[in-house]
Amino acid sequence: MSPVRVRFAPSPTGALHIGGIRTALYNYLFARQQGGTFIVRVEDTDQARFVPGAENYILRSLEWVGLIPEEGPEQGGPYGPYRQSERKEIYMDYARKLVEAGRAYYAFDTPEELEAMRQRLATPENPMPRYDFLSRMGMKNSLTLTAEEMAAMRSNGVPEVIRLKVPEGEKVKITDLIRGEVEFATQELDDKVLMKSDGMPTYHMANVIDDRLMRISHVIRGEEWLSSTAHHVLLYRYFGWEEEMPQFAHLPLILKPEGNGKLSKRDGAKFGFPVFPMDWKPEEGEHFEGFRETGFLPEALINFLVMLGWNPGTDQEIFNLEELIQAFSIGKIVKSGARFDYQKAKWFNAHYIQNLKPSEAVSLIQEEFLKHNRSVLSKQAADIFDMYRERVTLLPEFYSSGLFVVQAPDAVDPDFRSKKWKREWNAAFLDLADQLSCTDPFEKESLEPMFKNFMQTHGLKMGEFLPAIRVMVSGTPMGPDVYLMLKAIGASEAASRIRRGLEMLA
Ligand code: GLU
Repeated sequence: MSPVRVRFAPSPTGALHIGGIRTALYNYLFARQQGGTFIVRVEDTDQARFVPGAENYILRSLEWVGLIPEEGPEQGGPYGPYRQSERKEIYMDYARKLVEAGRAYYAFDTPEELEAMRQRLATPENPMPRYDFLSRMGMKNSLTLTAEEMAAMRSNGVPEVIRLKVPEGEKVKITDLIRGEVEFATQELDDKVLMKSDGMPTYHMANVIDDRLMRISHVIRGEEWLSSTAHHVLLYRYFGWEEEMPQFAHLPLILKPEGNGKLSKRDGAKFGFPVFPMDWKPEEGEHFEGFRETGFLPEALINFLVMLGWNPGTDQEIFNLEELIQAFSIGKIVKSGARFDYQKAKWFNAHYIQNLKPSEAVSLIQEEFLKHNRSVLSKQAADIFDMYRERVTLLPEFYSSGLFVVQAPDAVDPDFRSKKWKREWNAAFLDLADQLSCTDPFEKESLEPMFKNFMQTHGLKMGEFLPAIRVMVSGTPMGPDVYLMLKAIGASEAASRIRRGLEMLA
């Protein structure tokens, strides 16, 4: 058995959508589990669709979720370069060998001539004729032209490509690790372009050559590539590599929330959830919000994504990366598409937020405040975490909920004021403020008996007293444990907020 080597092979034609992160994740888990190597290869041969910044976006996204390759454009490695545009020469040599072996040919057809062929050969049964065994002999290529004609075309600068000569009437079979036996009939396949007129390989050519040269053992990729695999197998066959071809695993699609079709990048804006790992601003005025900026922890995104298409076979849903490495298996990847469920993503996030280490939580909360140009002391951030860890689903909520700790409210809930507040409580609360200012230590143990006594003396119920204190401290009657709220602001601030609150309630 050759060692496990898997690759994640994104094209920098745009940002990586979460489906790409899931593909990278499955590759990563499989590599880790098998003691193999996880490789990132940038497939940037489509210059027309190249988007500046996309490669960096993809690499930074992988880094954010912790899927760091051992070999890749930034890491280097023994099978580099890992960017296909830097491997251009390699592919042409291989393509020429195929031509020499009679498995590929040069073609000189212009877009107009290709269109004319489609018009000429279209029939009701075959409305979209292909460049294939039926049509190729009527086209301008090295099978139909003489050496002189070709030389003339070349000297006139007619664009030239290399096409695969797909045979008629053969079968191509693969045993997909997820889908089982998949068979293709070669008469359904077109003579795919392998080398483009700009000298760059197409995806098919570069993908096969690189998987071979980089000793890839398993190709784990999205279902949309399954049909291309037929051409890939033909290439392996013609290069004499079919016996040592990688094993294939085609992952199910991630579907829209209602299950009707593939989740697209536009769905995020449509349904109001992120579909990209990090913020993506492809052009002026265009902005797709990322999971990171929405307030997700990378661990939560990973746990959410792994479950979209993989089933551990038990009820366990929460897995950290180490546990996933243990539990993961390609055999448990499902065939059918997995629906994107944003509520579930938030459920995972809430879980991971609750279980943050206090020190991690403190820095994350400080970062949230910094985004609003506010600073919060570590101790205050720790208090905010204590108060809200079980209530928050997205990190920015720590800011909106915890802001009262560093900023006294400048208004009180109007509903509370008009419906719940009783003027006759005023004097009692003023008195309470005086008592609070000299309470030491300022903690639940000392405050609780004092509050009980207060309520008894003034005939207040818990359901009247607690909302009133919260309104004075934070502006709203709802909120976390009052003792934690008071402790977070401290004795003298508590006293002054009560006094000020009473003015606003008057
Ligand atoms: N470059 C292809 C993509 O953008 C890779 C497909 C594959 O993994 O073979 O998804």
